[in-house]
Amino acid sequence: MKQSKIFIPTLREVPAEAEAISHKLLLKSGMIKQNARGIYSYLPTAKRVLNKIEQIVREEMENIDGVEVLMPVLQQAELWKESGRWDAYGPELMRLKDRNKREFSLGPTHEEVVTSLVRDELKSYKRLPITLFQIQTKFRDEQRPRFGLLRGREFIMKDAYSFHADESSLDDTYNDMYHAYHKIFTRVGLNFRPVLADSGAIGGDHTHEFMALAEIGEDTIVYSETSDFAANIEKAEVAYTPNHDHTPVKELEKVETPNIKTAQALADFLNVSLDKIIKSMIVKVEDEYVMILIRGHHEVNDVKLKSYFKTENIEMASENEIENILGAKPGSLGPVNVNQIKIYADNFVQDINNLAVGANENDFHYLNANVDRDFNIEAYGDFRFILEGEELPNDLGKAKFAEGIEVGQVFKLGTKYSESMDATFLDEQGKAKPLIMGCYGVGISRTLSAVIEQHHDEKGIIWPKSISPYEVHLIAINPKKDEQKELAEQLYGQLKNQYDVLYDDRKESAGVKFNDADLIGLPVRVMVGKKAGEGIVEVKRRDNSESQEVHIDELNDVLA
Ligand code: ATP
Ligand code: MG
Ligand code: MG
Ligand code: MG
Repeated sequence: MKQSKIFIPTLREVPAEAEAISHKLLLKSGMIKQNARGIYSYLPTAKRVLNKIEQIVREEMENIDGVEVLMPVLQQAELWKESGRWDAYGPELMRLKDRNKREFSLGPTHEEVVTSLVRDELKSYKRLPITLFQIQTKFRDEQRPRFGLLRGREFIMKDAYSFHADESSLDDTYNDMYHAYHKIFTRVGLNFRPVLADSGAIGGDHTHEFMALAEIGEDTIVYSETSDFAANIEKAEVAYTPNHDHTPVKELEKVETPNIKTAQALADFLNVSLDKIIKSMIVKVEDEYVMILIRGHHEVNDVKLKSYFKTENIEMASENEIENILGAKPGSLGPVNVNQIKIYADNFVQDINNLAVGANENDFHYLNANVDRDFNIEAYGDFRFILEGEELPNDLGKAKFAEGIEVGQVFKLGTKYSESMDATFLDEQGKAKPLIMGCYGVGISRTLSAVIEQHHDEKGIIWPKSISPYEVHLIAINPKKDEQKELAEQLYGQLKNQYDVLYDDRKESAGVKFNDADLIGLPVRVMVGKKAGEGIVEVKRRDNSESQEVHIDELNDVLA
């Protein structure tokens, strides 16, 4: 493709509200253009990357006998009422009415549609198992659309649904999907981690998310230092507890222990972003005060704490005790009962910032508390796992954290939809049973962004070859010079038979071309310049600052 003919509106400046690096680079390199909040046009280079990601996904789905279909975007409300999700899904569901005032949604996901599709067809166990998948635009009226394609209101997803006669067949497909996802995310060049996840509102009880590791990620992953175990923080509870010898964590790691006075300092100390510090509470275990920071949304109750600390002798710390531990002024916590202590403690770290400016909707005394003056936390010990309902190795060791972008999820749905929507089959004994289901999603447009989050430098994107919009960037440095233009045209004619080539034939300065090339980020660049007359070009890889002179006869060997 000739760059003079393509549409790549690169930008010098990006809108200030673009926070995520991938969002900035997508705008800057002319890949996307915003149409409305969380809604984007994909320009030619983005479209090519999407095509390549989709193709990889398609190959891996077909490899495990997935069959491609395309289901409607416009979904009648009746189906969603059958499953109970017309109400349960809430404001994220985009709703509209047709001219006859019939209600519809714009599909955020397709469990209802696919269940209604198969319920009349898969009537016998002989037709099972089967896996259907599609690649399609989804709509979700996200509360906080942000970070460009990472959280859009309109985005592209591969979704797959499997149907089974029994659990073991579902297990097999789940396993196949898990491995297919491994291959997909490896092939697109992501550094990722599968994690045990919370099944949440969708129902079902077993699920993994595939997390691309990146600072901007909205999910926190907690992983074991001593085993392969990793989970979404929503699934695994971890508690921060002191070592019994009160050795500060950082000292164990031979780093000086800071005296932590602010939530930010605590977040820095723990190497997590501030909003990941969710709850804290102080309890007394065997007469020893323990400040636990709970990361995760589960309630922590006595029973859990007792089993965690392996003792019955556990109670909430009193107001005075907390003041002591926190180094707070006597009386500064105000009159609080145990329940309030918990609320107080729950919000403690998270609200420290609010406290400092005196802004908090809850009318507790601590409205006017001042962190540096009234509080003082010393962090000792380690994060350890508290887990529910999972068969886990006994010793998971210390818990470590990382931020992740959820690029995919595999899910054992069970019979939630088949039961509510009456999708049954006849088993070998001729008995009617609900179909057993699995569902499996990959965020195609989110994956594109996640790859950029991981593959870039200060100049622009650095595409992995597998999904790069083009493989080779051929640049005529000064096409006004006949010999350069001729050689460039000749090479373009040859190379495009073997590679996807983007040919910069524009009448722009070399500086503009190089800047754009860095931004666009194709893996290898072939520059036709001053030595064109001798048949010599310069070859440079995007991930390397060195360039090499190559005779055109050897070009193929160098590019291969
Ligand atoms: P999140 O937790 O980030 O909101 P989700 O769990 O709601 O995602 P799923 O229902 O599991 O998303 O959808 C399957 C995949 O679709 C996700 O793993 C993700 O890659 C992608 N996805 C979901 N919501 C969005 C969105 N708003 N924008 C872009 N991709 C999305
Ligand atoms: Mg969501
Ligand atoms: Mg999620
Ligand atoms: Mg999900």
